[in-house]
Order: sequence, then C-alpha cells, then structure tokens
Amino acid sequence: MNWAKGNLGWIEVVCGPMFSGKSEELIRRLRRAEIARQRVQIFKPGIDQRYSHDHIVSHSDLRIHSTAVRDAADVEAKLDLRTEVIGIDEAQFLGMELVEIVVRLADMSKRIIVAGLDTDYLGRPFHPIPELLAVADEITKTLAICMQCGNPAKHTQRLVASEDLIVVGAAGLYEARCRRCFEPNLAKLDEPLASAMRATVSDSRK
Ligand SMILES: [Zn+2]
Repeated sequence: MNWAKGNLGWIEVVCGPMFSGKSEELIRRLRRAEIARQRVQIFKPGIDQRYSHDHIVSHSDLRIHSTAVRDAADVEAKLDLRTEVIGIDEAQFLGMELVEIVVRLADMSKRIIVAGLDTDYLGRPFHPIPELLAVADEITKTLAICMQCGNPAKHTQRLVASEDLIVVGAAGLYEARCRRCFEPNLAKLDEPLASAMRATVSDSRK
C-alpha cells in the first residue's frame, strides 16, 4: 500500500459492521509498516476496554500495542511527531474533531489508517466515519456474513434493548446482519425491560 513516493501524506479508512475484520485489516497494515521499520503509533478510544487496555485486539485475537485516548484531541496530544504511520481503531467514538486532525496529519506527510463502524445500531451513518470517507485517499468497506442467513452483512445488529448510542461489547450483544435480516427495532423495547437489559449489559462489562 506504499505506492506513494517520498513523504506524501495519505488517509486510509477501513469501515464496515462488527465482525467484518476491520481491526484485523488495520493490524495487518500496521504490521507491514512495522516490518518496513517505519515508525508506527496506534490509538484507540479508552471507552473500548474489551480484552485489553493497551492493545488493539481483533475478535480473532490478533493484537498490537496501542495507546488509549479520550477523544480526537488526545490523539494529537499523544502523537510523537517522528511517527510516520498512525493507526486509529474504533474511530466512531472519537468525535467530529477527528476529521480536521486527520487531514492536518496527512498534510504533515503522515500516513493515517482509520478503522471504525460506518453505521450505528439503527443503521444510521456513524459520525465521523462518513466525513472521514469523504476526505480519505483510499477506502475499504469490509463486509461480515449475516449470522441469520449467511448473506453478505453490512449491518451491526444490537441484540439487547438499549437506546444508548454506545454499548460496548461483542459476542452476545451484537451480531452481523444483512439488509434483509437487520431489525433495528429490536433495540427499542419498552422502557422497564430496556432498563433491565441495560443493567445486564453494564454487568457484563465489568
Ligand atoms: Zn441475513
């Protein structure tokens, strides 16, 4: 992926639903850069504390050392200016300021690889991923396989009732679904049941 000559800045976005291999693809690209002895830094939001605080771990247990950040500004604050390749996982949690920062870093001749969910649990564009797609030099959309019917899946189905935008977790709370099997209303149950489910979800995060 290094066709660019000299130090041309570059933005890559890898997006798709959960279980589509985004983190694996991000890790694969970052490893290639490390093998080429490029200076690499990887950031992920502290909110996503699945499996590990200081590593990005894909569902298939590939891992790479990462730095936890609170928001987009924190990425810039924790960036070593000598870094050549910057990986950002779960970018949908870092806020709209990420777009401006990513463009600024590319203008500084950095290669930035951003991975994140392109749609939320209701199938709506998950900001700032749409905006990042617009400013990207290269875009990869990853598809999962529908866990109901086996068709290509572009949706992240939330299996528990919660209208919070963010419920972090993976197996058991979410599954990949195709357009036909996707049921956004599943996450919108009546309130007493929804709050009971929320309690269950927060227990499972401990
Ligand atoms: Zn399906």
